[in-house]
Amino acid sequence: MCIFCKIASGEIPTHFLYESEHVVAFKDLDPQAPAHILVIPRAHYENAAELAAADSATMSELFGAAREIAATLGLDGYRITFNTGASAGQSVFHAHLHLLGGRPFAWPPG
Ligand code: 5GP
Ligand code: ZN
Repeated sequence: MCIFCKIASGEIPTHFLYESEHVVAFKDLDPQAPAHILVIPRAHYENAAELAAADSATMSELFGAAREIAATLGLDGYRITFNTGASAGQSVFHAHLHLLGGRPFAWPPG
């Protein structure tokens, strides 16, 4: 089982900022901003493209969860990222949405 499957199933005890039948959200272990939350499907998909192709309702729920969490945290602006593929910086191959906020962000991203 992959590390995010273990987090989603509760095998690795984790505080969830958001939890539903299909989605959980928790703080990133190595935060890149004052707020850095990962929103993931409970089911295993290798990346966001696989998830979007297989289950667009859950893909949509990731965005809804991110919106709710951003509002709860009082973020006035935030960035959502899906690193998709190793060349884009993906290191955990279970689909996840990065929600980043609490500081200014540069564009273009590095
Ligand atoms: P990626 O590089 O695949 O886009 O993002 C993976 C993210 O997962 C990284 O930001 C990394 O810090 C985070 N991460 C990796 N392992 C764990 C873990 O066991 N717990 C938590 N909370 N985050 C993790
Ligand atoms: Zn997984």
